Amino acid sequence: MSGELRNRPKGTLDFLPPDSERKRWFETAFVRLAEVYGFRPVETPLFEHTEVFIKSAGETSDVVGKEMYTFTDRAGRSLTLRPEGTPGVVRAALEAGTRLPCRLCYTGPFFRYSRPQKGRYRQFHQLGVEALGEASPYVDAELIMFGAEFFALVGIADCSVSINSIGCTACRPDFRAQLIDFLNQRLDQLCTDCRRRAAINPLRVLDCKNPGCRAATAEAPQPMNYLCPECRGHFDAILDELRRRNQRFVLDGRLVRGLDYYNRTTFEYISAALGAQDSLGGGGRYDYLLREMGGPDMPAIGLAIGLERTMLAAPMAEQPPRRRLCWVAFFSTAERQAAIDIADRLRAAGIPAQLDFDATGIKRQFRSADAAGAACCLVVGPDELARGVYTVKDLGTGSSLEVAANTVIEEVRALFRY
Ligand code: AMP
Repeated sequence: MSGELRNRPKGTLDFLPPDSERKRWFETAFVRLAEVYGFRPVETPLFEHTEVFIKSAGETSDVVGKEMYTFTDRAGRSLTLRPEGTPGVVRAALEAGTRLPCRLCYTGPFFRYSRPQKGRYRQFHQLGVEALGEASPYVDAELIMFGAEFFALVGIADCSVSINSIGCTACRPDFRAQLIDFLNQRLDQLCTDCRRRAAINPLRVLDCKNPGCRAATAEAPQPMNYLCPECRGHFDAILDELRRRNQRFVLDGRLVRGLDYYNRTTFEYISAALGAQDSLGGGGRYDYLLREMGGPDMPAIGLAIGLERTMLAAPMAEQPPRRRLCWVAFFSTAERQAAIDIADRLRAAGIPAQLDFDATGIKRQFRSADAAGAACCLVVGPDELARGVYTVKDLGTGSSLEVAANTVIEEVRALFRY
């Protein structure tokens, strides 16, 4: 068989049980927490008109310039697999005429053509929230704390929060001019990418991970020091609120993040447990994006968390728990119908139940139960049926007990510790 048939495409992951179940657990935990904060689910297409991403992330951003999966469909339209969530969510809310303010959350796959490595994939998953139409610095603080709460909830203890403000259309031009001036004097010390960025997207140079660029820009002007009174007031209010609520954070004057639509607040969650790809998630304000995409002049702020990196950084249970599954085994075909009936009763009570119709003999059914990781096996035998009981075997401890037919649901549930 050729490699193409047997191997997944470079930079993609498969999620098989139990990883797929673990992934689902993180997604559910995220959506539940988001709902507690008032976010409601949104689903948008996996591809959009290419223009949607160019208009939002910016032509000079790495995502748009180098990483998009863009294709022409059969009718000649340029479409792009979504590299991030915000533009599609904004497009959808505007198209539907959604009443603002509105809080939305999503989980799903995203696509970027970048060099795959641990924690960086070409198809990856994000967990995101967008608060459309909210301006208050309390919202920024709430969102930053929401992300931190999620990481604490999934057991990531060593997550630090970096925060910056990159100003607005009033204060950024002055800062930008100072930065370009600074960079022009050091062009020879910058990497090829940053030499190009210095002229077209100078803020991104501050974000470059190249050690040469970092050294050359150690003394570079930082947007935080050029904020206009409004931006300064907004930023200080966020920091005061975070302090009041005992949320720890680090000020990072270099944190600009890769997408052009951000203004004012940018923030990022970093984990020491990850290698080079140590950013667990991040977000920021995008007060101009709704208007630029043809909507009302309304502010907004969002946050996106990388699911694969969260799964890498979160602690794993040492021994994966047995599944909440009750295997129903029958002695011979004479007890098959009774076994199907009790499986039905279990399922109707919400207890996952499964049978092996192909295996002959009780031993092989036990083996199937064990291979599936079932928590217990309920045995239906002629002797038991005659006495109105079942034998329930705890596959974790190996112990068996006999239970009366009318209490079997409760007994199995107790075994699962429901
Ligand atoms: P961004 O949309 O670039 O702000 O990314 C938000 C988060 O998504 C990052 O902090 C990562 O956790 C995750 N992420 C971004 N790109 C990738 C990728 N190529 N592979 C895996 N995770 C990613």
